[in-house]
Amino acid sequence: MADLTLDHVSKFFDDGGSKVVAVDDASVTIEDGEFLVLVGPSGCGKSTTLRMIAGLETVSEGEIRLGDDRMDNRPPRDRDIAMVFQSYALYPHMTVRGNMRFGLEESTDMGDADIDELVEETSSMLGIADLLDRKPGELSGGQQQRVALGRAIVRDPEVFLMDEPLSNLDAKLRSQMRTELQRLQEDLGVTTVYVTHDQTEAMTMGDRIAILNDGELQQVATPLEAYHRPANRFVAGFIGEPSMNFFEMDVQGDELVGDAFSYELSAKSAEAVEGSERVTLGIRPEDVEVIDDAAADHAYETTVDVVEPMGNENAVYLELGGERRFVATVGGMRRVEAGESVVARIPEDAVHLFDATTGETLQ
Ligand code: ATP
Repeated sequence: MADLTLDHVSKFFDDGGSKVVAVDDASVTIEDGEFLVLVGPSGCGKSTTLRMIAGLETVSEGEIRLGDDRMDNRPPRDRDIAMVFQSYALYPHMTVRGNMRFGLEESTDMGDADIDELVEETSSMLGIADLLDRKPGELSGGQQQRVALGRAIVRDPEVFLMDEPLSNLDAKLRSQMRTELQRLQEDLGVTTVYVTHDQTEAMTMGDRIAILNDGELQQVATPLEAYHRPANRFVAGFIGEPSMNFFEMDVQGDELVGDAFSYELSAKSAEAVEGSERVTLGIRPEDVEVIDDAAADHAYETTVDVVEPMGNENAVYLELGGERRFVATVGGMRRVEAGESVVARIPEDAVHLFDATTGETLQ
């Protein structure tokens, strides 16, 4: 067992003469046994990164290593990696047993009886032991997904790579499989890189998450770190639902002045923005307080535009000066109605500040 390292890895494609930078100088070490989720919007380079690790795509620059061994120049079958695809990629003419045996027969010198035993054991672990003689077409989506996992598990690889493996399942099954997958990965202790565009999946599944945008790694951190201490405005806006509210503001001494409102800074925050002319103030919807006291500090009189129920909470869209400016999440116990005037407080300890040009976090 060993760490998986991407060392300054880039991937360029030639798109009819113009150069596409799909992955731009990505470096990360995934520790032995770790579950790393690679997350980002469509087209940011997630699949390309995974395919380079698997050997389905060459590396344009940089190195990929398992422990001290360089692996980016080895053919896929010599990498000791098992990949689970979104499409499952099962062989339709083979039974579940055949699908699970297939990779093994080629890659090990295990005897027939041992392979059978391993397939039986793994299928019991996945709850598909009674489906071994069926073909993929006779299985539900969730069952097919388990077979695809089973096929990866029996190979006992150093690394699992998973490319949106749950995206074809309905919401309920997806959340059930999320938990199952996590438990399985923990039990097996196999280093895993899991790709998704779904930030909820990333937040709930990963030991750490790597956030990718436009081919560039933005931050590699635990989900809580990325949520509380985002490296930049992109990460701040990508993680969290509903998204963080952002306001572009001019720095005027220890005050921020924007179109919607002005915001007085503490000495500490004023120091953080020193040297910047323009900053972005960010506040998460769950940190906006809807209160009654208009005299409180950092409190603004607003009008409720729309109330969107979200189960045990409501997303309340608020207007300031006649325009919809931001969203607050409010516990279901507090009744708020469209058209109502409410006071919204933006507490300083929850405020994020970013450089307006670079997007880097200032505080
Ligand atoms: P999605 O979530 O939509 O699958 P992704 O994050 O996995 O997206 P990639 O598939 O890795 O993104 O693609 C990254 C970028 O590289 C995109 O701009 C894509 O158009 C480009 N790209 C991928 N494969 C090729 C190719 N074979 N030739 C040219 N460009 C490519």
